[in-house]
Amino acid sequence: MQLALGVDCGGTRIRCGLVNRDGEIVGALHQREPRGEKTRATYVRAIITTITDALRDANQVAGIGIGMKGLVDHARGVSIYPPGIADWQNVPLAELIRRETGLPTWIENDVRVAALGEHWRGAAQGVDDFVFVILGTGIGAAIFREGKLARGISSSAGEWGHTIIAFGDQNFRCDCGQFGHWEALASGKSLARRAQQWIESGRGQALLDYAGGARDQITGQWIANAAWQGNPIAIEILRETGTYIGIGLANIINVENPALIVLGGGMIESANVWLETAHAAALKLAMKHPASSARIIPSALNANHAGILGAAACVWDQIGKPNQ
Ligand SMILES: [Zn+2]
Repeated sequence: MQLALGVDCGGTRIRCGLVNRDGEIVGALHQREPRGEKTRATYVRAIITTITDALRDANQVAGIGIGMKGLVDHARGVSIYPPGIADWQNVPLAELIRRETGLPTWIENDVRVAALGEHWRGAAQGVDDFVFVILGTGIGAAIFREGKLARGISSSAGEWGHTIIAFGDQNFRCDCGQFGHWEALASGKSLARRAQQWIESGRGQALLDYAGGARDQITGQWIANAAWQGNPIAIEILRETGTYIGIGLANIINVENPALIVLGGGMIESANVWLETAHAAALKLAMKHPASSARIIPSALNANHAGILGAAACVWDQIGKPNQ
């Protein structure tokens, strides 16, 4: 049985697993965190050790696929710039791993990898025009057009998070430095900022009381938990954020004309509170024609497996189509 090794390189840890041609994970997952300060050397060492662990008992491994944060030049196998790692610039990661293991290796941006996973075994099976949107502490997107990933001329296609949805806004600063970007207004990070706005305007006293007066304690995760426990202001904040999620989705519908938008990322855990609002806003704001054919649904993959599965799909895409 031929296997592919899928490697998911996250911000804090590296995880990998062997995947067969049917998209099933075979055997145990392996994971590691870089030791000490996160530098190019410690991060690459952690990737190699994790891969070596996973390959120890495996034979018939056809190749390695790696999902990597940040800008990736898939064709050259280069990780251009992953956020959060010191001294990392243009690292030929595929070649490094190939030399170390003797196996053909491909790398791809982590959001595109997740989209490959959705197309292969997730919510987008059989759908060739779709957009995968990851709603986490930031917002990333990957675009499938006519069955293929769209990467753009310099690998940065799909940066929907940095489109302006609130020109003139001075409250929500994006990590890129600009104001009014979709990511700044609709990601998990925006929840805490929005809660502070509610408190500053006097409408959020009940939320502050709920936090025992500890304003610093109010993070995105805390708000999601408070909403889960039924706090009406936390629910209102999530719904307000849902409207902003919907504005960005309307833009995607207008420009990409997708059959499907698949939503993933940490915000999905509270989707039961905000998804309906986001959906209604998207359909109201988008043009009627593309809106009539666009479905919006959450990811169907186990969040712990999606990155590994998608990275393995990179391998099968290169050396022969998987069983569909
Ligand atoms: Zn931005």
